[in-house]
Amino acid sequence: MTDSPGARLRLTVLGCSSAAPHEATPAAGFLVQWGDTNLLLDVGQGVVRNLQKLFDPHELTAIVIGHMHADHFLDLVGLRYLYPWGERAPDPLPVHLPPGARARLDALSVAVSERDGFFDAAFDAVEYDPAAELQVGDLRLRFFRGRHYVPAWGVVIEAPDGTRLAYTGDTGPSSSVEDAVRKADLLLVETALRSALDDDLERGHLTGDEAIALARSAEVRSALLVHFNPDRLAELEATCAAAGGWVRPAVDGLTLTVSPARRGTGVNDSQASDAIADAASEASPA
Ligand SMILES: [Zn+2]
Ligand SMILES: [Zn+2]
Repeated sequence: MTDSPGARLRLTVLGCSSAAPHEATPAAGFLVQWGDTNLLLDVGQGVVRNLQKLFDPHELTAIVIGHMHADHFLDLVGLRYLYPWGERAPDPLPVHLPPGARARLDALSVAVSERDGFFDAAFDAVEYDPAAELQVGDLRLRFFRGRHYVPAWGVVIEAPDGTRLAYTGDTGPSSSVEDAVRKADLLLVETALRSALDDDLERGHLTGDEAIALARSAEVRSALLVHFNPDRLAELEATCAAAGGWVRPAVDGLTLTVSPARRGTGVNDSQASDAIADAASEASPA
């Protein structure tokens, strides 16, 4: 734990596309920083390459993975190759996996034709208990279950100053997700669907309108739409503009600082503009 005077919670979008590769941005990957805590949420394909533009991935404090779909964890394979080959790394990277995922990671080392324990020399890969709190550096994490085709968890991250950033992970419409992210200072909310008609009968993703409705009902101070095909950017910008300034679509490399709420102020429209501020640049289109 570090004393970080003047620190702010900081989010950088390393990847905000859905599963199909797109030249504009990798699949899911979000860097959350406080002081010298560097937490990576999800590591979909292409995310490590974007992380390397910011700093050496060995400086990560930990990775947390919400569910075991390829667009949320597959770049663990690439990341592994940055670590020593034979001997165990002196400082293995903590990788927090959802329940049941440890065996999948072991199967992945077989699937990519690597030796048993391929990941073990580099990572401390352990399953988290979604019912328990998890401390990563200075950040405190709580998990909640999403509504998805496979077991999937979202997370609420609390900084030492009380700022809360929430990430839905992959989910369909869900009142329990809404409750879990209630009054977050910044919500990353997925919108993988153009239309609800594109979803399975049992829902597992959100449309833009559903994502905004969830964020609004949850009374979050600000929201960022994530996990969408970037071809939809203009459409989502228009949807967000109509909803008000408190929500907008993510773009590759976007960096925001998130401030704690001032006591006594409202949520959504009334207060959005002071919840987040663009830090650094809106980065390079990759
Ligand atoms: Zn998924
Ligand atoms: Zn996904």
